[in-house]
Amino acid sequence: MSSEGSNEPGAGHSSPFTAAPGGELRSVDEHLREVLAVVEPLTPYEQPLLDAVGLSLVDSVRAPIDLPRFTNSAMDGYAVRHLDVAEARDDRPIHLPVVGESAAGQAGPLGMPPGTSMRIMTGAALPAGADCVVPVEWTDAGAAAVRIYASPTPGQHVRLAGDDVTAGDDLLVAGTVVGPREIGLLAGVGIARVRTRPRPRVVVLSTGSELRDPGQPLGFDSVYDANSYLLAAAVRSAGAIPYRVGVVGDDPRTFSDALSDQLVRADLVVTSGGVSKGVYDVVKDVLSRLGTVRFVEVAMQPGKPQGIGRIGEDRTPIVTLPGNPVSAYVSFEVFVVPALRRMMGKQPERRPLVQATLQGSLRSVPGRRQFLRARFAIDHDGASVRTAGGTGSHLLGGLARANALIVVPEDTTAVADGQQVSVLVLDREL
Ligand code: AMP
Ligand code: MG
Repeated sequence: MSSEGSNEPGAGHSSPFTAAPGGELRSVDEHLREVLAVVEPLTPYEQPLLDAVGLSLVDSVRAPIDLPRFTNSAMDGYAVRHLDVAEARDDRPIHLPVVGESAAGQAGPLGMPPGTSMRIMTGAALPAGADCVVPVEWTDAGAAAVRIYASPTPGQHVRLAGDDVTAGDDLLVAGTVVGPREIGLLAGVGIARVRTRPRPRVVVLSTGSELRDPGQPLGFDSVYDANSYLLAAAVRSAGAIPYRVGVVGDDPRTFSDALSDQLVRADLVVTSGGVSKGVYDVVKDVLSRLGTVRFVEVAMQPGKPQGIGRIGEDRTPIVTLPGNPVSAYVSFEVFVVPALRRMMGKQPERRPLVQATLQGSLRSVPGRRQFLRARFAIDHDGASVRTAGGTGSHLLGGLARANALIVVPEDTTAVADGQQVSVLVLDREL
């Protein structure tokens, strides 16, 4: 872990740096490095194919067999020897006896002597002695004998063994995230199980004595707990498994107990609230006493107060996010998503940013990396983005109108209409 003393907020450019009284802000990149250093790729295990969807392969996969496995027909028709039918014409059909039938799934190899044909179905093995297939449409579809009105070229309508995949080929490289096409390929070459890194189990806990669970009555100044739902949903969107804990009040004892109860099932704990400078900031209060969680102020907006460390016997990683819903969510996207990707062995750990044309202009605070709520769209003119949803970190309604975050660098104070900006597109793999 890096030390507070090595922070260089605002270094490398001359913009005024708005340090919090009594402490320096640490850069987003440095905080992210520390978050990534606290989590490790999870131990891989073997699982059935369908459970691996969305996860990353630990091992490269080689083809155990050829695809097609055996030479077979691409059409329903008649297996023939090209030499026997080369002269077939509409007005001079070739007449051949039909000596048998090759259907898909039929056991045992078949063969046919010269001057004969064999009925064959799509996917059925080509009999020894045949070298092409006459589609049934080019024949009279005869049963005991067949009239053939046109000749295929040698090898036509035949799928050769190994022409798609050859046994021993590298099929998928380690790190590939398995989707439908990869699953299809693995199943197609007969692989039933693969080693992947598992989905991290993430305990999500929100703190605040004012919080009530949705569906419960509200008191005069109570607030529905949006964060544990928002964050649990974000955990699931990232491919991990959320365990949403109900609301925990701002009481140190209750919070400690709730946390210890949850640790057994967590690969990562994410909390919201209680990390600012208030008197009832229970997360900071309890966890700073442990000495294994560090609370810092990050040069970003929203999401300044952050905490990162480990807790409990197993030294379970914990990320403590601020309580304002937008701050919690943006911090999750910036710090927790890369952590989850790292735990799942996904590369790159940081989701790539997309360049888009800014519609309208924007201003930004110097010395902070701003994550501005925005609407991102792709049309015939390319990718564009405009700010949307307001800037207050309590604006849940506004957040739901955004589908992206414009990332404004620390040293940028204004961006004009039509300029290119970096965008973190939400809820979408890019
Ligand atoms: P805190 O960081 O605990 O001081 O919370 C900052 C602000 O966010 C307060 O107005 C809280 O009421 C609000 N807040 C904290 N947690 C939640 C939550 N889980 N859902 C909705 N609002 C919250
Ligand atoms: Mg609070």
